[in-house]
Amino acid sequence: MKPLILCLAAFLVAAAASGDDDEDPHTAAREAMVQQQIEDRGVHDPAVLAAMRAVPRHRFVPEEHAHRSYDDHPLPIGEHQTISQPYIVAVMTQLLRLDSDDRVLEIGTGSGYQAAVLGEIAAEVYSIEIVPSLGLRAAAVLRDLGYDNVHVRVGDGYAGWPTRAPFDAIIVTAAPPQVPQPLLDQLAPGGRLVVPEGDAIQQLVLYTRQEGPDGPVFDRKPLLGVRFVPMTGEVRRH
Ligand code: SAH
Repeated sequence: MKPLILCLAAFLVAAAASGDDDEDPHTAAREAMVQQQIEDRGVHDPAVLAAMRAVPRHRFVPEEHAHRSYDDHPLPIGEHQTISQPYIVAVMTQLLRLDSDDRVLEIGTGSGYQAAVLGEIAAEVYSIEIVPSLGLRAAAVLRDLGYDNVHVRVGDGYAGWPTRAPFDAIIVTAAPPQVPQPLLDQLAPGGRLVVPEGDAIQQLVLYTRQEGPDGPVFDRKPLLGVRFVPMTGEVRRH
């Protein structure tokens, strides 16, 4: 009888050490975030809500701010950059109308959080970050969490990722004065692109590629006022 009891005791100790509470103490905060900040404000796409419930946002936030991960605002991630407010991540993701077989390009990996949300829904995500330390950290967190379908590259996103184009959806998470033309050119037919355009005053704009008689035309819809960090690099020379 004794060995069995010992075994059971060992099992209980092991279970306590790796117990549910230990696994993710942020589940309740994340659930409240999704309900109060996202669903209650009108985001209804079930895939987006499921993704926001699934991604452990606290893992993408520097440790000293982890306790505020699920609060209703952006947070600093170092290098004068920020992880977007959860609601804005949800709104932008919903605007992309993603399918499970879509290929998505993101400009501005930052913490990698938005890329993970996209990776929960779409088939492949390609994300470019201009600040090397941020890109490397994001890639490591994404790898750690098993997001094998999210590919991060360090570089200037101005020219997009031509060898992986075309994309069904493109999301720009740093603000250019105007959307870079190479990004529009990498949209697949019917593709959607969402971008915060402007400097002092920014607007979230949705572009949709449609096929005209003389080639693609881009429907442009300004949607709401936003505040993003500026897009840097090549776009400032145009
Ligand atoms: N999507 C991010 C938030 C991004 S903040 C997240 O979920 O955390 C915007 C990011 O865009 C910053 O990390 C900034 O360094 C990056 N960025 C700015 N200009 C860029 C450019 N030209 N190409 C690629 N990344 C750029």
